[in-house]
Amino acid sequence: MASPCLSLSLWGLLLLPLLLLCALTLRAAPAPRPGEFWHITDLHLDPSYHISRNHTRVCASSKGKNASNPGLFGDFMCDSPYQLILSALQYIKDSDQQASFMIWTGDSPPHVPVKELSTKIVIDIIGNLTSTIRSFLPDLQVFPALGNHDYWPQDQMPVSANEVYNAAANFWRPWLTDEAVNTLRKGGFYTQIFHPNSSAQPLRIISLNTVLYYSPDNMTLNMTDPANQFEWLENVLETAEQNMEKVYVIGHVPVGYLPYMRNITAMRKHYNERLIEIFRRHSSVIAGQFFGHTHRDSVMVLLDEKGKPINSLFVAPAVTPVKDAWEADTNNPGVRLFQYDPSSYSLLDLWQFYLNLTEANMKNESVWKLEYVMTKDYGMEDLMPESLYEMTNRLSAPHSTLFQKYYYYYFVSYDDPHLFCAKHCKISQLCAIKHLDLSSYIDCIEHEDKLQHGE
Ligand SMILES: [Zn+2]
Ligand SMILES: [Zn+2]
Repeated sequence: MASPCLSLSLWGLLLLPLLLLCALTLRAAPAPRPGEFWHITDLHLDPSYHISRNHTRVCASSKGKNASNPGLFGDFMCDSPYQLILSALQYIKDSDQQASFMIWTGDSPPHVPVKELSTKIVIDIIGNLTSTIRSFLPDLQVFPALGNHDYWPQDQMPVSANEVYNAAANFWRPWLTDEAVNTLRKGGFYTQIFHPNSSAQPLRIISLNTVLYYSPDNMTLNMTDPANQFEWLENVLETAEQNMEKVYVIGHVPVGYLPYMRNITAMRKHYNERLIEIFRRHSSVIAGQFFGHTHRDSVMVLLDEKGKPINSLFVAPAVTPVKDAWEADTNNPGVRLFQYDPSSYSLLDLWQFYLNLTEANMKNESVWKLEYVMTKDYGMEDLMPESLYEMTNRLSAPHSTLFQKYYYYYFVSYDDPHLFCAKHCKISQLCAIKHLDLSSYIDCIEHEDKLQHGE
């Protein structure tokens, strides 16, 4: 059927004013402005950081090893000096971005031996970073999640109320509803509805305590449903489905396989299987998933049992640049901004910002810069599961230059001229991107290995 505007043209000049009105109305309906939110993670403040001639004493987080080239904004052998965290928050504050909220996926204390920390120190650091964020961004809604370092002893998160959950709940009270604060106190997780000004439809945030599923957490050994979080999650997702809500899942330890290792999930395998099964069943309400913990920049696409892409997952790089002595490479400090469609919460784009640490230390000035814009740098339409899947297929092509770029950004443009991901490394990276459950991951590795060996 012809549109009313076209059929009007038959009436010619007599109806010219109406035609003009039609044209104006059509032009006056611009696409709604995308919504935006920040994602910061793994700040790992090292309060001991200071410039010292003796490079073994620059920071406790180098664990007696020499700092490499310490400066005002940190060192690749150390966790974040306060100055680095301040510079990241100052950059976010000064940017012209109109973010409606921020997600903060945990790990505030430094990587130091257990005996050098205590429950009090861990709580003080979480409190310090909470008030630092609030002092820079007093009007911004923040949704935090707990990391494996946000407990003492690290990784050993319990399944019931304790001093740390309680302290975090008190610190985060200004951002959270009473109901969210209550579940946070009991199990370290919560859900909350968010109403951005720009959108009629509310968004549901689910902040999971994925540390309960983390392999080194001995508190949850042999448990089928630690803190009843699975049961709670399924209930929340079912309600979200009934209420036609859209959901962002946030957490510290990601689901799926570690991209830099073979056959290793970040969580215990059976917890990973259970989560994947839940996410698959409720994928229609989940518009995005956001994690931290690996300190590197990576993506995952959740596929259903038939191989159809159903969810986009993003692991954000850390603010801390720290690396262990045995590691060749690490990440520059990074923070990121997502763009979403305010009517559906579909993810449209990702802007990754970073600090070239070597350069910042040399100039004694922190020049945070845009590292990449995902749609532009990867030639994508948006960040929805189909587009992300299509992009990751291009990464798999032999000698893909796009994959080299992905691997460079994986380390947040860390300066290593020898950075290269050869066959074995590339297979691990690629299989981890698209295969989050055990059976499809094993199939992927076997298949790719056979191709490599020409069988
Ligand atoms: Zn971390
Ligand atoms: Zn972590």
